[in-house]
Amino acid sequence: MTTVFVNGACGRMGQAVLKAVQEDKDLTLVGACDIHGGADTGSLVGLPANGVLVETDLAAALARLQPEVMIDFTRPDVVFDNVMTALAHKVSPVVGTTGLSEEQKSEIRKAAEVNNTPAFIAPNFAIGAVLLMVLSKQAAKYMPDVEIIELHHDNKLDAPSGTAIQTAAMIAEVRAEHKQGHPDEKEKLSGARGADYEGMHIHSVRLPGYVAHQEVIFGGLGQTLTIRHDSLNRESFMPGVCLAAKKVRGLRGLTIGLDQLLEF
Ligand code: NAD
Repeated sequence: MTTVFVNGACGRMGQAVLKAVQEDKDLTLVGACDIHGGADTGSLVGLPANGVLVETDLAAALARLQPEVMIDFTRPDVVFDNVMTALAHKVSPVVGTTGLSEEQKSEIRKAAEVNNTPAFIAPNFAIGAVLLMVLSKQAAKYMPDVEIIELHHDNKLDAPSGTAIQTAAMIAEVRAEHKQGHPDEKEKLSGARGADYEGMHIHSVRLPGYVAHQEVIFGGLGQTLTIRHDSLNRESFMPGVCLAAKKVRGLRGLTIGLDQLLEF
């Protein structure tokens, strides 16, 4: 049994995690936190009341409850402090919140080692999205001209998505850096060609109705290849979140990406 604390418990992902953890026979929900406290973590998500209430002081709750794992789905501007608080209490963070900078990730890596407490971050917990990244890296060896289009609901705070950046980073491991498009191309409207990652372009769509979707389009001589993944609802992330919560204590330092926990 792994004891789990959920941070950001009242949010869209937090509530899905509360439900998934309570329904997983190998995980025990011991506490939860959000800036909106007070709710019962069972009845909040349509399960029987369990007496575990959402609290508002993360450090105090972790010190008192001493869970093995803290799952964090909060906001890009608070996730770093949450993770450092968890590590200071020797609680392993499993982080779904996106928007951590490279500098913050290296600070987390150091803190995980100093505190001898493993940490896990995944920009996308959906197995299909992980496969999309792994397959994109394979395809880029043979078709190195590639653009990424990611599509999300319009409440998302960061752009491009963590998944798009991670996909570009994985492709960059096998693709020599080069600028795509015509060497003399000019944007008539700023941003028309999207964000630039080592010459690859990433385009972010934000519309009501979407959950989380991504297309990776490869272009070659007389052909294109499109790999697409759609998360149709937040349940798509839950098997990955629960798997990471069960495995994180057996890892060392900081691990990034659900692909690191799967066999290919
Ligand atoms: P949301 O706005 O619905 O929920 C965020 C919750 O965090 C809110 O309830 C808010 O009150 C709470 N919160 C804010 N500051 C807090 C703090 N300091 N301490 C504790 N709680 C705090 O957002 P969401 O749609 O649930 O998404 C949350 C994050 O998860 C986003 O960064 C999103 O991009 C990311 N996400 C990641 C994945 C993945 O697979 N890795 C999937 C979906 C969403």
